[in-house]
Amino acid sequence: MDLSQNVRAVQEQIAAAARAAGRDPAQVTLCAATKVQTDDTIRAAIAAGIRVCGENRVQELTAHWTAGAYAGAEVHFIGHLQTNKVRQVVGRAALIHSVDSERLLRAIDGQAEKLGIVQDILLEVNIAREESKGGCRPEDLPALAQLALGAPHIRLRGLMAIPPISSISGANRKYFSEMRNLFVDITKKMSDNQSIMDCLSMGMSADFEDAIAEGATLVRVGTALFGPRPPLGTLR
Ligand SMILES: *Cc1c(COP(=O)(O)O)cnc(C)c1O
Repeated sequence: MDLSQNVRAVQEQIAAAARAAGRDPAQVTLCAATKVQTDDTIRAAIAAGIRVCGENRVQELTAHWTAGAYAGAEVHFIGHLQTNKVRQVVGRAALIHSVDSERLLRAIDGQAEKLGIVQDILLEVNIAREESKGGCRPEDLPALAQLALGAPHIRLRGLMAIPPISSISGANRKYFSEMRNLFVDITKKMSDNQSIMDCLSMGMSADFEDAIAEGATLVRVGTALFGPRPPLGTLR
């Protein structure tokens, strides 16, 4: 596996998907999903042009952060976040993608206040209404967005979704389209405040081209960059 070749290939696929959708490739950010990767691999990815790393486990983010592995890039938190681990993420993550409850929102706002910063966040939507998944219900999104807007140490930047893993090409396109509609709706409602609402985070290795066709501004890609990961059960 040649990492820098993969980075270039994925960047080219992103650009082609954007152009095919009549969009400017510069509007789509590649976030490298670096879970289970080593400090050295993360450094190599950044050397190959990655500018955003996405972590989904607090422990890994903390370890790589402490080792200085993200130098030259920013790190986003893309996994499920427990309120008792907010302290290790707020102020480190340039963007927290996975805010899905009032409780978590308040914990992040409180920690950001302590640090004297404003934390950028996305609200995660459980767009396919899967029992096992994080994310708020689509119908709860307006209320949660309202809370985010009222939180002085939070800046709402947009929405995120993780649709079902599917091997059927195009299967998630309807969810990406529903997400875009939610994003447009909610952006309209908040046009008169300080939120930027410039980020729609959706699409992974198997389906980022469909996500871009439906308006994704950030895609989270792991396998297509780093190769297959060991099965979850074998991880500590
Ligand atoms: C691992 C992960 C990805 C990337 O998945 P791939 O299928 O390997 O591209 C994207 N988003 C989240 C939240 C992840 O945990």
